[in-house]
Amino acid sequence: MKHDLIALRHALHRQPELSGAEAGTAALITDALRGTAPDRLVTGLGGHGVAAVYDSGQPGPTVMFRAELDALPIPDASGVAHASQRPGLGHLCGHDGHMAILMGLAGTRPARGRMVLLFQPAEETGAGARAVLADPAFGVLRPDYAFALHNMPGLPLGAVAVAAGPASCASVGWRIALTGREAHAAFPETGQSPAPMLARLVRHLASLPANSATLCHMNMGAPAFGIAPGRAVAHVTLRSVTDDGLARLEADLAAWCAENAGGLALDISRHDHFNATLNDPEAAAHVDAARNTLGIPQAEFAFPMRPSEDFGAFSAQAKCALFFLGAGTDHPALHDPAYDFPDALIAPGQAMFRQVLAQITG
Ligand SMILES: [Zn+2]
Ligand SMILES: [Zn+2]
Repeated sequence: MKHDLIALRHALHRQPELSGAEAGTAALITDALRGTAPDRLVTGLGGHGVAAVYDSGQPGPTVMFRAELDALPIPDASGVAHASQRPGLGHLCGHDGHMAILMGLAGTRPARGRMVLLFQPAEETGAGARAVLADPAFGVLRPDYAFALHNMPGLPLGAVAVAAGPASCASVGWRIALTGREAHAAFPETGQSPAPMLARLVRHLASLPANSATLCHMNMGAPAFGIAPGRAVAHVTLRSVTDDGLARLEADLAAWCAENAGGLALDISRHDHFNATLNDPEAAAHVDAARNTLGIPQAEFAFPMRPSEDFGAFSAQAKCALFFLGAGTDHPALHDPAYDFPDALIAPGQAMFRQVLAQITG
């Protein structure tokens, strides 16, 4: 079985697909799940999402485990035999490994209640979990508990980090478009340039609390010498430990932009919004008890993880816990072109989920 899971992981790794375009990945997963005789198989969930239900037939809680289907628009430079066969695309967050771990549980029926395996689309853009929740078909899955793991380079291989409370940050991308009026470079005073406002924006963002705003992109004017610019665009990512904190950052930046736009037309759009993931104390305790029972070492980790995870969206529906599984202290970082999921994590990841399931449904 372990060998099959590694082969599945490598097959997924070879054919990465972007968020929202995971049709081939979903087809592969659906085929593999059919062979495990689920009591219910839901496809097309929130896009290309797939869920399999294994029902004990006895009353009891529904326990959901989640993996992600999507890969990244980053070339795979791992150099491994199973490297991406799609130029410019790579499974560089390890979602291929998370899928293999979940597939290892397929066919398992809990002693009571139900187990749901959710293969969620579009995690990397923050759209997938919300789309799954908004899909009427999610109604038949409705978990009481939901668990997800993310592999974590920098932590010792196979060690587990979990805590109640904030597990990953809330974030949102802002596209700020400024429109004034172009002019001849010899007569800039006859136009309206966004340059002074952009300069103030850069200083303002740098003055905010550490790590709460990242200026990701700026573009102004044309690459010429005869034109004073009339337009600019900035991409800013805002980040906070809580959803309320993020809402305050957004309100403050909106007010600042309105005050500082002068005569420029201001157009702000929001992208890639992620809720904070807040681990439920009972769910987190189940994860830590499983780690303890299995004799898996605890990893030191400064919670919450600064990058966002859209798993937090499920906490409105279920007692949730997201935990981290060490990918090795020297392993390339997530989203690094050299990253490849360590196959050695498939067994401990699966064991953790099985133990959590046994504790809740046993
Ligand atoms: Zn990622
Ligand atoms: Zn990821």
